[in-house]
Amino acid sequence: MSEKEAIYEVVIIGSGPAGLTAAIYAARADLRPLVIEGPQPGGQLTITTEVENYPGFSEGIQGPALMDEFRAQAKRFGTELLTSWIREVDLSERPFKIVTEEQVLWAKTLIIASGASAKWLGIPGEAPAPAGFGGLGVSACATCDGFFFKGKNIVVVGGGDTAMEEVNFLTRYASRVTVIHRRDRLRASKIMQEKAFRNDKIDFIWDTAVEEILGTEETGVTSVRLRNLKTGEESVFTCEGVFMAIGHKPNTELFKGQLDMDEVGYLKTAGLTMATNVPGVFACGDVQDSFYRQAITAAGTGCMAAIDAERFLDSLPVQTPAGEEISLANAHITPEAEELVLVGR
Ligand SMILES: Cc1cc2nc3c(=O)[nH]c(=O)nc-3n(C[C@H](O)[C@H](O)[C@H](O)COP(=O)(O)OP(=O)(O)OC[C@H]3O[C@@H](n4cnc5c(N)ncnc54)[C@H](O)[C@@H]3O)c2cc1C
Repeated sequence: MSEKEAIYEVVIIGSGPAGLTAAIYAARADLRPLVIEGPQPGGQLTITTEVENYPGFSEGIQGPALMDEFRAQAKRFGTELLTSWIREVDLSERPFKIVTEEQVLWAKTLIIASGASAKWLGIPGEAPAPAGFGGLGVSACATCDGFFFKGKNIVVVGGGDTAMEEVNFLTRYASRVTVIHRRDRLRASKIMQEKAFRNDKIDFIWDTAVEEILGTEETGVTSVRLRNLKTGEESVFTCEGVFMAIGHKPNTELFKGQLDMDEVGYLKTAGLTMATNVPGVFACGDVQDSFYRQAITAAGTGCMAAIDAERFLDSLPVQTPAGEEISLANAHITPEAEELVLVGR
């Protein structure tokens, strides 16, 4: 078979909540999508334990079990899954060229759902259990896990706006929140700093790095080992939880120079659609969302991206923010339009 013969209507990059929801919708629209699972089949939820905020599971569900359900539902309607990494994509002409570890594939439409990764310190004790205490007191998502820390004494690592947002949010649950920061002042905006300084549940330890997370399998996290970066002095700080809030990195290396991104690397999508600046390429989930970053929002935008791809293939119109109806096949985002207005070509 020649390379060109493997042409898919829809190829989906990523098998987290966004990619697999896109697959469910595309498969039910009879588009026989191919999902390329990537380095983390099932996505970020496979490294967590209890998920309590995904609708439809009144008793909660384990992250890996939830993703097994997503996968089974996508397969039920004919989704093909490929456990491989993508090495290269060429979006300069359609069908798009996708080079995996083993083969070359072609896609009439492409849905990018490659997610984002929380940044970690790379210290002992940080990895997902059983190697470390990830899921046993270590987290990178306050919205997801804050509820598990009711009445507990926790630390947050970071000093930017997101960190201060997480810190303030966590004081709803935790008895005390201690911010550990490498410098002697926060990077966060003045308004966020003031809010944190006013909150009497929050303490600060300055000029200090967390060097190790300590605990046991039975108790989870019990303390962190700290080092003062000015004096070199080491100490152990007792706590029952550690939140990393040092930022996220969208998985968009592959698309640099081909798709519009913000300064951090999140893909830009247009108006009310999931369309990127290249007609036929759509993005959904955490790879284009630096703000909500939840499984349900990722799934929601996955649904939107699949519907957009289906309309693109059928040359059906979408509505611009201005209320104008245009065909996605004939649309692009004006590069200079910060507000991402779709315009007809
Ligand atoms: C520890 C933890 C706990 C969380 N708990 C909750 C919670 O309780 N509730 C909640 O709503 N949210 C929670 N979240 C957030 C939630 O997991 C994410 O918002 C959601 O997974 C985003 O889905 P996604 O499909 O956009 O991306 P991801 O889940 O990140 O999936 C990305 C996919 O892209 C693939 N990929 C990446 N690069 C490539 C490549 N080059 N080629 C092919 N594939 C690639 C990966 O293999 C993966 O399958 C948690 C996150 C973490 C880290």
